[in-house]
Amino acid sequence: MIFKEILVRYGELSTKGRNKKDFISRLRDNVRYSFNDIAPLKIRAERDRMFIEVENKEKFDVLMDRLPHVFGIQSISPVASCEKDLDVMKALAFEILEDYREKGDLTFKVEVHRTDKTFPLNTHELQREMGATILPNFPNFKVQVKNPDFALRIEVREDAIYMMAQVIQGAGGMPIGSNGRSLLMLSGGIDSPVAGYLMMKRGVRLDAIHFFSPPYTSDNALQKVKELANELTKFGANIRLHVIPFTELQVAVKDAVPDNMSMTSTRRMMMKVADKVREEVGALGIVTGESLGQVASQTLESLTAINDVTNTPILRPLISADKNDIIKIAKDIGTYETSIQPFEDCCTIFTPSSPKTKPKLEKVQRFESFTEFDELIDRAVKNREVYQFPQKEVKEDKFADLL
Ligand code: ATP
Ligand code: MG
Repeated sequence: MIFKEILVRYGELSTKGRNKKDFISRLRDNVRYSFNDIAPLKIRAERDRMFIEVENKEKFDVLMDRLPHVFGIQSISPVASCEKDLDVMKALAFEILEDYREKGDLTFKVEVHRTDKTFPLNTHELQREMGATILPNFPNFKVQVKNPDFALRIEVREDAIYMMAQVIQGAGGMPIGSNGRSLLMLSGGIDSPVAGYLMMKRGVRLDAIHFFSPPYTSDNALQKVKELANELTKFGANIRLHVIPFTELQVAVKDAVPDNMSMTSTRRMMMKVADKVREEVGALGIVTGESLGQVASQTLESLTAINDVTNTPILRPLISADKNDIIKIAKDIGTYETSIQPFEDCCTIFTPSSPKTKPKLEKVQRFESFTEFDELIDRAVKNREVYQFPQKEVKEDKFADLL
């Protein structure tokens, strides 16, 4: 294999100073975490790019396959290396460029970057020498200095020559963890996993919370939510899922609040429970998959009534998104197929036939005031079950009972 390392270019080049340092060290940690299965990795992080050494083809393939999904990476390039000998350099350039021979007419340029000033040819001379050797051998190439289809970049470093041509687009965004932690309200639907993904892309680490109402909702519905949480861990961070026993609260709302306002009240209870869990896990915001106007509970009037229970920032990354665009992302990130499995989530069953699209906050508050909801909320928070994803393999300890 000719490749010795992979060059990683950072996304969000506008981040500056201290933030930039955090960005880089966070990205390095996240790469290590994401590639735990092929550890150890030798990573060299510089101010504006990072290098990952590759000792063998297996490591190289795994890295090339998964690095483009790690948030905070703008692009990657496989980098080949050889000794500082013109003939060897030409042979290596030909090997790299061979991939471009069958790709039709292409504009290209040779780009030289020389840090070893003792190298006998200067930047210009080396550029010309390599160009003059390459062009006659690749009739489909035409030199173009501005915006060529691709460039062969040659770096003359102290220890050796490094060359690269291929540039693969990365996921962009910011390294997970660089923007704190939030709690994702994860239903079994299409929207909330997408909302979680978008926040992760902005560098937010997630805990997830799910409201579960047995026996009205089946274990299959819960299983589906676990799968969704697990699928989100693909993007490079572990996720804890808090499953809230919600039946008692939901029944209490049904008893206390008229049908057409019970949806709003249910949402308010969910938000109150979520806010307590958020505080316990040290998260700063709550993320939902709400999108304006999609259903009755997602009008500005409803959102006002829901927001009324807390001052915590509620992040709604899909608020302006069309359903079709959300579906497209869900398909791209691989959560769609799981989301459309037909299991009832807790709200489908309790959904009144004609919920108010413009609930009056004072009325909802008044109906709620006759019931001691706080007690029920505390109990729901306390009795939650917590699952960790990706799921660690639990080794069966046959002797545990005997000890
Ligand atoms: P989704 O596709 O995400 O379920 P939806 O279009 O079905 O969204 P709603 O059911 O009104 O819309 O839910 C709006 C948001 O409220 C969800 O995106 C999610 O963040 C949160 N939510 C709804 N039900 C639950 C639940 N059972 N557990 C946790 N969060 C929930
Ligand atoms: Mg839903």
